[in-house]
Order: sequence, then structure tokens, then C-alpha cells
Amino acid sequence: MAFDLQTLLRPHIASLKPYSSARDEYTGKEGIFLDANENALGSVSEKPYNRYPDPYQSKLKEKLGAIKQVDPANIFLGNGSDEAIDLLFRAFCRPGIDNVIIMPPTYGMYEVSAGINDVATKKVSLSTTFDMEVHKVLEAVDEYTKIIFICSPNNPSGNKINRESIHEILSKFDGLVVIDEAYIDFSDEPSFSLKLKQHPNLLVMQTLSKAWGLATLRLGMAFASKEIIGILNKIKPPYNISGLTQDTVLEAIGNTAQLEQMIKEILDQKEQLQLALEEIPEVEKVHPSAANFLLAKVPQANKVYQQLIDKKIIVRDRSKVQRCDDCLRITVGSKEENQQMIKALKEVLKNQSNKH
Ligand SMILES: *Cc1c(COP(=O)(O)O)cnc(C)c1O
Repeated sequence: MAFDLQTLLRPHIASLKPYSSARDEYTGKEGIFLDANENALGSVSEKPYNRYPDPYQSKLKEKLGAIKQVDPANIFLGNGSDEAIDLLFRAFCRPGIDNVIIMPPTYGMYEVSAGINDVATKKVSLSTTFDMEVHKVLEAVDEYTKIIFICSPNNPSGNKINRESIHEILSKFDGLVVIDEAYIDFSDEPSFSLKLKQHPNLLVMQTLSKAWGLATLRLGMAFASKEIIGILNKIKPPYNISGLTQDTVLEAIGNTAQLEQMIKEILDQKEQLQLALEEIPEVEKVHPSAANFLLAKVPQANKVYQQLIDKKIIVRDRSKVQRCDDCLRITVGSKEENQQMIKALKEVLKNQSNKH
């Protein structure tokens, strides 16, 4: 069977009549607006926040599209990537019937969002080197499998997933393939968003929360065929991206020079951090990373994590996660922050080995 969006879609979504907001029904800019029960007198804020924002974020999509080389019609914007993930479950997965495939260790929201929507997750672990095992993934597919989530570079392991393997999944799986590229800006590989034309079953997610430094604003992007984007638009909350976010992002995203400069600095710092970690005798392994964090294996990671907190250094304890025994995930910080973290980690590990 080939990919067919209409059969993949939940039937009630296919026939759903979406809410039509005031800003859907009249899109002109001029006139006396008495259609949305807004406050015509103004706002309690000094800023003109009394009007509802553009429900489809046209200006923002135009600018982002130019930067990402993606047609605005192929872009969905969500209140963080998490909104896009949730909408995909609601559009495609029948609760209690359908399933999705995820590849642990990976981003936790796929499973949580599946759980909220009462959708089963089939887990096909990445290999011990965190590679995708294509034949196992394809073997796990059954007639109820709607979505395969691939995170590349992967969180928490940091590595890129092999491109050939991703291509194989895209061509052999008839459901939706979601590639989460939250960390793509740190990687030297091109985005799969440039492959939308070849793959009608592809959806690529990116975010402004990481390299762009705009996590506060909550803006996630999904790139896919016009048809898939149309479905997400149909079921999203009408004004899902606030006007404040739209305006602030519009103003900020022209600043690509600073983006590039920060990425370069973070990558430099990552290299330094990797070397510094590898020099600590107690550190057993530092996994290669194409993202802005490093996964490091240390003895008794949970205790190390706690003792780092006592020193006001907060990293992420991933030691309970599959294939991440005794691993800490450490975000690359500023030069000073990294130096302080390394100093604290050395103290903690030294103390620990003195006790043995
Ligand atoms: C951080 C992260 C995101 C970002 O989510 P937002 O809701 O856009 O902030 C998405 N996917 C992965 C794998 C991440 O690590």
C-alpha cells in the first residue's frame, strides 16, 4: 500500500468543520472592527494588545520560509514543538487503537503526548551506539502504526541518525515519518525540510527554542506537504501563537549574523568541554554530539547529579533512561559556566573515588 493521507487521517477529522474565527471571515486590514468582541478603547497595557493576532501568522511564515527555503504554505507554527506533536496524535491516531513507533533513548514528549491521547507507543531501541536499526523499526510496523518519530540529532544522545537509514524509512513506511530537528542548527547536515517534494509522508519539526535562543516565546515549526499543514491548521486552537510572540520573533529573526556567531561560539565551547571532560579520569565516556549538549558517563551518576546541585550546578540526570546508564546530559553553557561546571564535577568525582 502506498501513502494515502485520507486513509491515515482519523475519519471524524476528515469530516470536521473547523471553527471559523472573526479573523478568518474578514481578513482586510482597514475598517471599524466590531466583529470579535475586543476592547475598542484600548488595553490596560501601554502596548496595543487589545486586538486578536493573525491566526495563520502570515508575515512570520513568509520570513521564516525565506530563511528556511520552505514555501509558507508548507509551514505550520505551534506553541512550541510540543503543540505540533499533540496535534499529530489528535489528527492521525485513534485512541486505544492506533500506535506510533519511537526509538529510546529519545525525547520524552513523544511518549507523554501519546499517553495523553491514549495512543500506544511501540519502542524500538536505538543500538548501543545510538544508531537506528531500520529492519527492527520496519518489523515493528503493523496495520495500526500511524507515525514513526525520528529525532536527529537525537536528544539525549546527541548523535545524528544515519541519513540513508532515514531515507529507507521514508520510502518503505506508508504512514507519517516525523523527523524532529530541534538541534539541526548545531549540526553540519542539511535539513530534511528540503526533501518535502520527494516524500509526501514527511513532516520535519524545528524550533526557535534552542540555537535561536527564543525558548521563552514558544515557537515550534513543522514543515510538511500543504495537505498535512492544512490538517494541522484545521484542528489547532485559532490563535495559537500570541501576537507578542509573532511580533517579537518577526523583529528578531532577521538577526542571522548573531545566530551564526552564537552557534559558532557554542560549538567551540562544546569542543573545549568535550576535551575537559575526557581529561577527567573518572569520566568513563563522552558521546559524540552534533547538538548543544554532551552525554557523559560517570560512576554513580545520580549521586554526582545531587552533589552538583549542592554546588548550584544543574545538569540533567539521564541515568534511569534506557541505554544511558550512569549518564548525565550536560548543556553547553558559556565559557565561565562550563569552567565552573568542570571544576565542580572534578571535586565531586574526586571525593567519590576517595571514599572507595
Ligand atoms: C528541546 C526540544 C524540542 C523543543 O520543543 P519546544 O516545545 O519547541 O521548545 C523539541 N524536540 C526535541 C528533541 C527537543 O530536545
